[in-house]
Amino acid sequence: MRGIALLGSTGSIGTTALRVLDRQRDRFRVAALTAFANSSLLQEQASLFQPSFVGLVHNGSEHDSRWRTGERCLVEAATREDVDIVLNAVVGAAGLDATLAALEAGKRVALANKETLVMAGDLARAAAKRGGGEIVPVDSEHSAILQCLTGRQPGDVRRVILTASGGPFRSWPAERLARATVEDALHHPTWTMGRKITVDSATLANKALEVIEAHYLFDLPYERIEVVVHPQSVVHSLVEFVDGSVLAQLSAPTMELPVLYALTHPERVPDDGVRPFDPVACSPLTFEPVRYDQFPALRLGIQAGRAGGAAPAVFNAANEQAVALFLEGRITFIDIPSAIDSALDTLGDTASGSREALLAVDSEARRHVRRLFSC
Ligand code: NAD
Ligand code: MG
Repeated sequence: MRGIALLGSTGSIGTTALRVLDRQRDRFRVAALTAFANSSLLQEQASLFQPSFVGLVHNGSEHDSRWRTGERCLVEAATREDVDIVLNAVVGAAGLDATLAALEAGKRVALANKETLVMAGDLARAAAKRGGGEIVPVDSEHSAILQCLTGRQPGDVRRVILTASGGPFRSWPAERLARATVEDALHHPTWTMGRKITVDSATLANKALEVIEAHYLFDLPYERIEVVVHPQSVVHSLVEFVDGSVLAQLSAPTMELPVLYALTHPERVPDDGVRPFDPVACSPLTFEPVRYDQFPALRLGIQAGRAGGAAPAVFNAANEQAVALFLEGRITFIDIPSAIDSALDTLGDTASGSREALLAVDSEARRHVRRLFSC
């Protein structure tokens, strides 16, 4: 029986993961749950799964002796003795310390919290090396790539192709994008997700984060990571091998599969939660080029990844701040890439370094974006 710490249990990935873990009770025990502020849902989950640790970051009152409050509860949950796998489903840079601590403590990190790897990919690698931990992706594209790569050698791969749904504005003309509302941006065509990643999918900043994530996870140079738009979200990504053969992983759009695979990789276990694949019902499957000019956040993110240093952390922090302001109704949709561009112009050359240096540049990038819009 493997012990799981689920960080961010009240969110979209968190609740999806609990559905999977409920079906897989004979393999996994939920040892720890944490959430930010939704104490009533957290309490409900705790009474269903009876973890030995419950952490509430904010608004906390401790319900019984298993409960802890405050920011440190993420790291506490992630490093517990009875935890083998840390499923990090926190959104944003807030998940960083827990990822690093878990890797340092030799745990498997099933990583949904891609922002962690984007802002601190080198630190995460170093922590894994020192502590013996490993990262297994939950992101559906990276799970697909991992599934295609399992059993292969690094030298077998020519390139990987990440699929992108294109988001709700895939075919909108530029002048209409300028008037896109929060409601429009939150209306994703194929996935139901948290608000931040849904906006990231509309700007394509999410795909930029995923290109950088793929670079760190699979140790691939940026020129061997490509993106193609695939509106149906059935082909979750593709790998082209050196002989020209291409493998892909397919399923109806559900995060239950990548969550389960991140827990069991490289094994597969029986699970009947996802309905059988029906190729005819999924037809047709189509692919289109990315419209880089309409969605500048994607190119900016890839450039930041290539630049290295602290540039990916600046990209991530500027994006997080701009998305928060957009969701508050304080800036427009097309202000998001402008804010990222401006932050990268000013701070993109910063060298990367320690965790403290990265957190300082993260704060500086957020301040830069707020100042830009006098917020
Ligand atoms: P969400 O907003 O629904 O959930 C976020 C979770 O993080 C909540 O449980 C919340 O309590 C917790 N949280 C938020 N701020 C926190 C803080 N400061 N400290 C501690 N906990 C905090 O988001 P989501 O859609 O579940 O996404 C979570 C992560 O997974 C993101 O990094 C996202 O990019 C990634 N992801 C999501 C999906 C998806 O289908 N939803 C797919 C791939 C990757
Ligand atoms: Mg994804």
